Amino acid sequence: MTRIYDDDLSGAFGTRAIHAGQRPDPTSGAIMTPIYQTSTYVQEGLGRNKGYEYARGKNPTREALERNVAALEGGRHGFAFSSGMGCLDSIMKLFKSGDHVVCGENVYGGTFRLFDKLLQNYGLRFSYVDTREPQRIADAMTPETRMVMIETPTNPLMRLTDLGAAAEIAHRGDALLVVDNTFATPYFQRPLDFGADIVWHSATKYLNGHSDMVGGMAVLNDDDLATRLQFILNAAGAVPGPFDAWLVLRGTKTLHLRMQRHDENGRRVAQWLVERLGDERVIYPGLPTHPQHELACRQMRGFGGMISVELGTREKAAHVLERVRVFSLAESLGGVESLISNPALMTHASVPIERRGDLGLSEGLIRLSCGVEDVNDLLSDLEQAFEGL
Ligand SMILES: *Cc1c(COP(=O)(O)O)cnc(C)c1O
Repeated sequence: MTRIYDDDLSGAFGTRAIHAGQRPDPTSGAIMTPIYQTSTYVQEGLGRNKGYEYARGKNPTREALERNVAALEGGRHGFAFSSGMGCLDSIMKLFKSGDHVVCGENVYGGTFRLFDKLLQNYGLRFSYVDTREPQRIADAMTPETRMVMIETPTNPLMRLTDLGAAAEIAHRGDALLVVDNTFATPYFQRPLDFGADIVWHSATKYLNGHSDMVGGMAVLNDDDLATRLQFILNAAGAVPGPFDAWLVLRGTKTLHLRMQRHDENGRRVAQWLVERLGDERVIYPGLPTHPQHELACRQMRGFGGMISVELGTREKAAHVLERVRVFSLAESLGGVESLISNPALMTHASVPIERRGDLGLSEGLIRLSCGVEDVNDLLSDLEQAFEGL
């Protein structure tokens, strides 16, 4: 009897989330992938081994995670990294001095910081454009452009990019489309299906989902590109430890359940905010008033639990942030517990102040990561935190 492990990935998302890439442990039958907490592997003879030599290159726990997330994204190859930024840094090593990158102007603050403060020093060149309008990507392409980097929806302004259009433009210019899929997760959006070449994640967020580790993931289809990324992974070494890989693997088993609840709670909280503040202050792609709601419905299967709210002033933001009792004031997102933050003063503090102004990243903007608690408790928490505003 054949069972679904990694040979048959035709099952629906929830089945793949639980089984893909994982077989019972060959020595004991343990149903959970063991944490192979080892740095090296004993070799059978000179030049003879079981395919494992040293744990920077390969680790069975990490491989189970890589196959699992690859199956969820619908890609052939998965690679696990020590953090989202470690993952992106390794992806960037596919390029060389003189190459040009077109990047969304509202990407994660750490992505901008890596490009602007570090990689620029190595001769990579970057243009930042508003990728909501695909023509802006086309206009920024040069003969040296090798990569188009987008995030959709963006953090924290929830701007969307048309994935199919971006892939078409990138490929016309002989560049790779690389997509940060941290916010949507493969449960709601699969960039490879729209022609993206590499999809990557901060696994720290929804993939892990329990706020107990930091990690990154990349998934792609092209075999040559995969060979190069595997080489970089081993050569540069930004790999996760086996325990962290195992924690993400445990997280992905419930990704579909968690995302359904994040989405339900997100919709209810967004609706409550609209009733309280009016729809022009609430930014959530699931709202019909979101300027790109139609695109969201076309390329996403749900909208998740991330909501941004413009309260107008830093004082009003502080009023809410300091009164919440179920939501916690913290950076990060995507965990089972609800978090609330002020991007301009926290996650996006590394974005220069004039760029923050251009983007609409004001000090009155707060961002909610709706967890999977009972939604009535989230609503009454907001009710009391907004009192007197
Ligand atoms: C957190 C985050 C990252 C960075 O990932 P780390 O795991 O913190 O290194 C990148 N992109 C997005 C959208 C994020 O939210």
